[in-house]
Amino acid sequence: MFGLIGHLTSLEHAQSVAERLGYPEYAEQGLDFWCSAPPALIEEFTVKSITGQTIQGKYIESCFLPEMLATKRFKAAIRKILNAMALAQKENIEITALGGFSSIIFEEFNLKDNKQIRNVELEFERFTTGNTHTAYIISRQVEQIAAKLGIDLSKATVAVVGATGDIGSAVCRWLERKTPTADLLLVARNQERLKELQKELGRGKIMPLETAIPEADIIVWVASMPKGVEINVETLKKPCVMIDGGYPKNLDTKVQHPEVIVLKGGIVEHSLDIDWQIMEIVNMDVPARQMFACFAEAILLEFEQYHTNFSWGRNQITVEKMETIGEFSLKHGFKPLI
Ligand code: NDP
Repeated sequence: MFGLIGHLTSLEHAQSVAERLGYPEYAEQGLDFWCSAPPALIEEFTVKSITGQTIQGKYIESCFLPEMLATKRFKAAIRKILNAMALAQKENIEITALGGFSSIIFEEFNLKDNKQIRNVELEFERFTTGNTHTAYIISRQVEQIAAKLGIDLSKATVAVVGATGDIGSAVCRWLERKTPTADLLLVARNQERLKELQKELGRGKIMPLETAIPEADIIVWVASMPKGVEINVETLKKPCVMIDGGYPKNLDTKVQHPEVIVLKGGIVEHSLDIDWQIMEIVNMDVPARQMFACFAEAILLEFEQYHTNFSWGRNQITVEKMETIGEFSLKHGFKPLI
């Protein structure tokens, strides 16, 4: 049995889908009410691999909302994630993905020190951030979209916004090792961590967001922004590709320019339909087949009976681990969204 712990992208989103999630009484309620909402098991489903294997999964809604971080309701955010993990464990789920901000909160607030949740002692080996698969899928999206559009990566400039993060640093490592680009622009706020990454990679230019994005042929957005940023499309190179891997989305701009392509980052498409509601609720274009790559990691680990926290901690994702999860991904019928 695998599990997925997820959350919605905003209070407005939560209110609009409350009824479908089974929380009709919350539809009219504000943030404080959502802060007190307990996690809930929303649905159970079956996933079939192209190998013929079939597995069972459960989706748990944590009721965390990004506004809780923006308004400094940190205790509520922490409670949401720990309670959802305790619920997954009570449900006897062997491997559960911590979707979106769940793993970020876990790391940011050092939740590994909070093992005891009432009568449940959390066993962290039952959880995975899913970030290795996400980083693999985003790296493949960079390679595949470049090939599709005739962009030669060895002559191209790629900017990674959120480069020092768990996913961003792994994407940088992959590009550096597998398909080196002419220039790699590293964007984040903390300069110390940027310098450490640059040292580890042995290359990369540290740049502020405003100067990096006009120079890039491909921009990978993997910053943990609770709310998207607005981009002036006029300042971008033409053509240019933006791969938005954030959840919620890092881009708040509806880009309407024929030479600026925006790709949904970190999304995979399965070869077989899945009978679930949740991907419709989070507005996937093809909800029976598309999902977040981090969720797919729990599915892959269950198919492989690899019951361990495959992705854990921060900035420890190696190219070898990305290759391993990439092989599982292909074997079971998943492909990056292009
Ligand atoms: P981390 O917290 O590890 O890293 C976030 C990175 O973003 C850091 O480099 C941080 O550096 C940078 N950052 C944060 N805010 C800003 C800002 N305002 N401007 C520039 N850089 C910023 O996050 P993850 O790598 O775990 O996740 C990244 C994103 O991917 C999140 O949105 C997450 O929800 C999403 N995600 C998507 C998944 C999928 O399946 N598609 C799966 C898991 C996560 P600094 O603080 O120094 O600025």
